[in-house]
Order: sequence, then structure tokens, then C-alpha cells
Amino acid sequence: MNPNAFRQLSYGVYVISTWDEGRATGCTANSTMQITSDPATIAVSINHDNYTNECIRKLGKFAVSVLGVHSDPGTIGVFGFKSGRDNNKFDEVKPEIRGYMPIIPDACAYIVCEVVDKMETDSHTVFLGKVVDADILNNDDPMTYAYYHNVIKGKSPKAAPTYIPEEQETKAETAYVCSICGYEYNGDIPFEELPEDYVCPVCKQPKSVFREK
Ligand code: FE
Repeated sequence: MNPNAFRQLSYGVYVISTWDEGRATGCTANSTMQITSDPATIAVSINHDNYTNECIRKLGKFAVSVLGVHSDPGTIGVFGFKSGRDNNKFDEVKPEIRGYMPIIPDACAYIVCEVVDKMETDSHTVFLGKVVDADILNNDDPMTYAYYHNVIKGKSPKAAPTYIPEEQETKAETAYVCSICGYEYNGDIPFEELPEDYVCPVCKQPKSVFREK
């Protein structure tokens, strides 16, 4: 089986957010899809290890922020590569409140859902949510996972359903990779010549965390 075939499925890049008591939290997700139109329902797949999973269970409500191609890629670093257990992720990305839920302000759309059902797999919970609010926020194009992977050169966190172990992944020729988030640097300026204050555009970690491939 070649898991790179799964990359041919169309995925987006989303932040799934909710409240942890009075504190906003969330995580990135690729696997979000509309299941029915009347009533409008949306399914999201969230790893058991993600703190957001616990919080959605408790509150019974979640919001989907649809990231656009011009959304700050740093949002993916904050929400995809840190845990909400010990990080206030929304301190770094100030939320906007829509439908009583925290959302990402530079997302291109948001959808707020109440959980109506869930299905457990070995690693993930699939939450089925009835849509209670949704709107377009700007005219940006939604970011597809292929765009994130091929243009931004980002990788899936280990908890993502779309994660592919490194040894099974089809690799492009790049010299420097961020050891935190997997971002591959292949800009026109040779990596060695980048300024010392260069930071990873996805996870904002310093130049020193990059490793030669
Ligand atoms: Fe990074």
C-alpha cells in the first residue's frame, strides 16, 4: 500500500476550536467534510491525543475556521504543533467570536456546530455536528492540503489522519527542513545566507532548529 495515494484526496486546512471552560482552544485538522445539507451537518476527525478532543466532548460544540491561502501560515504552527493542554494558543492568534465560539480572524469562512453524534476509531473521534451558524469572512481562496504541502511545504503533525511516516513519504529535493514542523526551505537565497533572525514561517522557530536533509 502506498499512503501517498491518500494525498490525491482533496483536503483543506482547518482550525477546529472550542471552549475549555472559559478559555478558547483548538487544533488544526485536515479531515473536515459536509455530510448532509438539510439539516446541514459537518464531520470532523480529531485525534484522541488532542486536548481539543476532550474539550469538544465536554462542551458538545465546535467551530471550524477554514484557512485561506493568504491566512498566516504561523496559525498552522500554533494550532498544529503545540498542545492546548499547556499552551494558550489563542494568546498568539487573537480570536474573533462568532456564534458564541472562538474563530481564527483571517480564516476565509467559519462554521459553528453542535455535536449530534460521534464515532470512535482506534486513534480518532469523528464528531458529527449540526451547523448552527456559518458565514464567509473574506474572498480568499480556501487553502487545500495540497497547497499547504506543495506550496507552503508544510507537513502533517503526527496526530493528523493525513500524517505519513517520513520513510514512506515521496520526497522533493530540499536541503533544509524545520525539525519542529517539517517545513522545507527551498527559497532562492541559499539557507546558509539567510539572516540569523530568520524564523520558520509555519512554526516561528529559529533558524537553528533547521536540519540538513
Ligand atoms: Fe517550523
